[in-house]
Amino acid sequence: MNGITIALSKGRIFEETLPLLAAAGIVPSENPETSRKLIIATNRNEVRVVIVRASDVPTYVQYGAADLGIAGKDVLLEHGGMGLYQPLDLKIAKCRMCVAVPAGFDYAAAVRTGARLRVATKYINTAREHFATKSVHVDLIKLYGSMELAPLVGLADAIVDLVSSGSTLKANNLVAVEDIMPISSRLVVNQAALKMKREMLQPLIDAFAEATNAAGAVR
Ligand code: ATP
Ligand code: MG
Repeated sequence: MNGITIALSKGRIFEETLPLLAAAGIVPSENPETSRKLIIATNRNEVRVVIVRASDVPTYVQYGAADLGIAGKDVLLEHGGMGLYQPLDLKIAKCRMCVAVPAGFDYAAAVRTGARLRVATKYINTAREHFATKSVHVDLIKLYGSMELAPLVGLADAIVDLVSSGSTLKANNLVAVEDIMPISSRLVVNQAALKMKREMLQPLIDAFAEATNAAGAVR
């Protein structure tokens, strides 16, 4: 494709990216929440948006099926970032990656006594690294969603998940006991595309950078 393809996931990333796109003069012609289309045109002939699963954004950009995309740091750490240039922290879709356990489970004591913990998570690589750094012995169980359920039904002692308000944890009688890292979404750009299509991509990257800093200044 001669134009620019942008990979986005629907939901919070799409919503929070709209103002950044607008700052770059790009307005998608449809809303992915209501449209079933996976390829969405924009007001600019040479720019289109493809709607993919959040965790698939780095893959589309890595292989050049999209020139750029927006992905959470959580997703990028699991993917590894091969072939991706990551010029900007867009400071959107902010949350924290945490260890959480059922209220009443003494995590600190379990760690102190060197107990082997079963931890369910979507973020196997990040979790493995975190617990290795802390010298906590864990068996990791890979899940694809609804991590909060795992400790409630005896699948795991703890979970590693993303937390923003904490209301999902609270609703399931879980508490965050350890912070792993702050999470926000990054702009990712295909490295080859950046060289071949620099004159089209650079103004977009610059507009995103400016809009991100402007948003930061207001907060
Ligand atoms: P799916 O819902 O398709 O399984 P997903 O859960 O990864 O995928 P989203 O819930 O839209 O998709 O999350 C997309 C990104 O938004 C995540 O990768 C993460 O960076 C960020 N995110 C996830 N949960 C929160 C949250 N509670 N608050 C703020 N940002 C979040
Ligand atoms: Mg989700």
